[in-house]
Parts: sequence; C-alpha cells; structure tokens
Amino acid sequence: MQTSSPAEATAAPQLRERPEIPDRFKWNLSHIFPDWEAWQRTYEVLDKKITEYAALEGTLANGAGKLLAALLLADEIGRLEYLVWYFATLKYDEDQRNNEINAKRQQVQILVAKGGQATAWFNPELLRIPLGTVRQWMSENADLAVYRFAIEELYRQQEHVLDAKGEHLLSLASRFSTSPNDAYAALSTADVKHPTIRLSTGADVTVTYGQYRAILATNRNQNDRAAAFKALHGLFAGNINTFASLYNGVLQRDWFHAQARGYSSTLQAALHGNNIPEAVVTNLLETTKAGTGPLRRYHRLRKKVLGLDTYHVYDTTIPLVEFDRKYSYDDTLGWLPESFAVLGPEYARYLREAVSGGWIDVYESPGKRSGAYSAPVYSVHPYMLLNHNDTLDAAFTVAHEMGHSMHTVLSHAHQPFVYAGYTIFVAEVPSTLAEALFLQFMLSRATDERERSGLLQHAIDGIVSTFYTQVMFADYELQAHRLVEEGKPVTAEALGDIYFGLLKAYHGDAYDYDDLARATWARIPHFYSTPYYVYQYATCFASSAQLMKQITQGPAADRQEAIDRYLSLLKSGGSDHPMAQLKQAGVDLGKPETVRAVVDQLDALVTQLEKEIS
Ligand SMILES: [Zn+2]
Repeated sequence: MQTSSPAEATAAPQLRERPEIPDRFKWNLSHIFPDWEAWQRTYEVLDKKITEYAALEGTLANGAGKLLAALLLADEIGRLEYLVWYFATLKYDEDQRNNEINAKRQQVQILVAKGGQATAWFNPELLRIPLGTVRQWMSENADLAVYRFAIEELYRQQEHVLDAKGEHLLSLASRFSTSPNDAYAALSTADVKHPTIRLSTGADVTVTYGQYRAILATNRNQNDRAAAFKALHGLFAGNINTFASLYNGVLQRDWFHAQARGYSSTLQAALHGNNIPEAVVTNLLETTKAGTGPLRRYHRLRKKVLGLDTYHVYDTTIPLVEFDRKYSYDDTLGWLPESFAVLGPEYARYLREAVSGGWIDVYESPGKRSGAYSAPVYSVHPYMLLNHNDTLDAAFTVAHEMGHSMHTVLSHAHQPFVYAGYTIFVAEVPSTLAEALFLQFMLSRATDERERSGLLQHAIDGIVSTFYTQVMFADYELQAHRLVEEGKPVTAEALGDIYFGLLKAYHGDAYDYDDLARATWARIPHFYSTPYYVYQYATCFASSAQLMKQITQGPAADRQEAIDRYLSLLKSGGSDHPMAQLKQAGVDLGKPETVRAVVDQLDALVTQLEKEIS
C-alpha cells in the first residue's frame, strides 16, 4: 500500500526493546514504590482505611469534629488511591501485553469501586444537615473551613437532584441512555465494510478512517484525496437516515434528562456542573463566526500555493511545504528553559527537576501505550508518557505535556489535597500556552524559511483544528439540540442543513462545496459520545491566546502582572469555579475580546506565512 511519497515519510528512531533503551529515556517508577511488595502493603492499608470510612456513617450530625474526621480520612484514601492506581497503570502502559500487571491494575479498579461504595453515604448524609449549620461549624473550625468550596459545591449541585423516587427512576432510565452511542459505534466501526479505492499510482487502498486521514495529509494527488473522501463519507451518506435517527436518540435523551432535573435547556444542564454561564458559549459561537476572515485567507493561500483550481474539504490538511527536519528529544528538552523563561524562577526550578530524570518515558517500545499524556501522581510528581519520533509534532507534544505537568506541580505544591486536581475547563490552558511559548522561541531561532513555514503551518493547523473546528462542532450541537427543545422534527435533511450552513458560514467562498459534505457530521464520534464537550477545547484555547497576548505584549509592568496572575491560576488547582479562576487570571470568557484573541493570533500567523511563502 502506497499512500505517501518517500520525501514525506518520516523515519522514526528505530524501535527498540525496552531494556535496550538507556535509563535516562525512561521514567523511574521507584519514586512511587520501590517494588510490588511495597505496592501490596499500601494496597492493604488502603483497603483497611476504606473499611474504617464505612464505619463513620451516621456520625456527621454530631458536629464539626466528626465532619472534619470524615473529610480527612477521605483525603487519606484519595492520596493512597493515587499511588496504588498510578504505579500499576504506568507499569502497565510500559508494556500492555503484560497480563499479570493488567490483573493488578484491575485489582485496584475493584478496590476503588469498593471505596466508591463505602463513601456513597457521605453526600446524602451531609446534605441532610442544613447548610447554615455547616457554615456555622466552618466559621468556628479553621481546619474544616479549608473544605468550604468543596462543601458549598455539594449543596449547589443539590439544586437539580431529585427526591429518592425521582433519582431511582432516572437511574433506571440511564440503562438505555447509552444505546444511541453504542449503535453508532457498532454501525460505524464493528459492522462497517470499508470500501477499497484505486489510487492514481495503481495501488489499492482500503479506506478506513486512519487511511483516509493519511491520504488527506500526505497524498499530493487531488483526485486520490477526492476518491478517499467520497469512499469514506459515502458510508455515512448511504446510511444517513439511520445516523440521523441515532443522533435524534442522543438529543431526546439529553432533553429528557434536562427537563427531568428542572433545567430550561440542554445547554444549561451541560454547563451547570462547572457553573459556566450560557453566555460563554453563545459569545464563543458568535465571535468565532464573525472572526472567520483569517481562516478564509489561510484556505485561499493554500489553494494558491497548492496550485488547485478548486479547493475542497479534503484539500485542507496536505502540507504546504515539504519539510522533514528532525527534532531530537535532547534538543527539544534543551529548548524548553528558554521557551518558558518568561514564567519566572519557580517555574524554571520545577522545569529543571522535571527534565533531570525519572519523570518522562520517551521512546516507543513493543507493547507500550501509544500517544502522550501527563499523569498527576499526587505526593510524588507528574509522569509523562511520550512516543517521541523526532518530528515537529513530537517536539510540540513535549512542550504540551510539560505545560500540563508544570500545572500539576504548581497546583499540588500550593493546594491542599481536596483542591489539587483541576477541571478540564482549565486543563488545556497551560498546555496550549506552553505550545505558544515554544512556537515563539522556535520561530525566533529558525534561520531558514522552510523551517519557519513549517512552524507557522503547524501553529495555524493547531488553531484551525482545536479552535475553529471545535467551535463549529459546538454550534452544530447547540442548533441540533434546539430542534428538539423547540419540538421540531429531527431529520437527516434538517441535520444536513445545519451542518452545511455552518460549513458555508465559516468558509464562505474559500471552499468549493460538495453535496456529500452535508453528511459529514454523521461521522463525528463526539456528537454521540460526549455532547457539549468539545467547546471546552475552544474556550481553553481562547483563554491561552488572551493570556499569551497579556504575557508577551504591552509595557513591562503590565506583562509582569499578567505573568503573576497566570502563575496564580496554575497554583489555584481546583479551588474555585473555572470561570472565577480564569477571571482572576485576567480572562473573561463572556467577553468578545477574549475570543478575538484567537482570531488575532491566527491573523498574525497567516500574515507571517503569506510573507514567508511569497
Ligand atoms: Zn493536553
């Protein structure tokens, strides 16, 4: 199978067996436990503490001291869970073929589930005590007052909890609420018959989604890309009424739950958990739709540089410049301190610690988990899993995961256990900001224009895929849910109209439109699995663009203030609602200018790219 020209193929470092990889490229899990025996001993302590916790049931009403005792023991259990869970999980990710370790991992899952059952009495028992009483206790007991936000959150969440009978009814309904997504997965994965196409080279390719992406990203023949697009999306168009009916199931379920819990809309229900005002989402959608100018300019530039007569959805990911420079892991690490220098001495100190050894698992080896992540192991340090292959993407992944890890370190260092974790709503702010700082540094050191163009395109494609596309998806979800809320029919026609309308609203005359694009919404897994989720990538991106602006532009004193506010955000963990945390950092997601910061960022990058390429 031939899908890419040799010039574009990247030679990854040779795959080695794990023992052959030098220790300095591997994480050191002995920072958690020296061996499995120590793990086992802690596992048993955890088990005992869970049993102790269950015995506290019925004591909370006896006063502040009892409530505090339960909270402290819950923290202790949580701390131990981090250790036993991550030791087993990270070991397993080193080689997922290891059944023995997988069994230990499942053993922890069973214990954590037991912990969940043993602590389930706490919330209902606390909520039977009037909030006024608990507030009185907190004002008299400083140790208890630490938990104020967490406790008041429980009472706030309670507003939409039903009585026992209602909750029971909802729990019965939850058994079939995953059916639309299960059926979507079966129809699009398990039961699908992937078509085969013949490329211009004469090679036959089976068009799975992975192959489709590879063809779009590497095949310089437009007819081949068009054929792949038609083959893949033809599958969805051919079953479009079935997909529409499955998606209708998702919409009806969401509206059922929202109404049952007393929300006025599905959006309100989705945002209540993090206490996000609906205006954040409407502002995001409106300001982005009004800011598609630079997006269209980018696509027009692509059309011109690629020398295409017509420009389609399937022409949007092929690279503009042939660029295959290698970025070794050691070089990448060496660039981080300078990239992040603006963030000050405390950040620099933790960064030195992070790169000094034992935190990062660098290279691929047989059986190792794919992708990249940062795992927050409380009371030890974060661990980062990479599969570094010397590409530009891999270099940015190091910066991204380091952004997560530094967030974790600062949050753990400055917060009590109960607030050490942070929400997804802020999680991608430090990682994308780290990428932006890294880009700025890399652009400043790049001497040849090919590299600069490669860097710019990488950054632009990041904004297009994590911001514009996600906002468009969120817009689609909102409009689709509104059909149901307004009692309108949900048909393949209606859903196709919404999606096609959005494609046109975003891309205007920069695209040539194929009728088949009307059906492309049907493939997006997030729509079925996690409604109203993807907009959070976009709000994180907007927040980090706004912060980047404040940190790097304007008078020195203002910049320093912005940096201090940003570091306070990282140190604040999960100690407040995310909107309030971001506001403290100088980001108001309810205001158009925050979202416009991304539009401005894209505008500047496209202008730079236009210059480099001309
Ligand atoms: Zn991330």
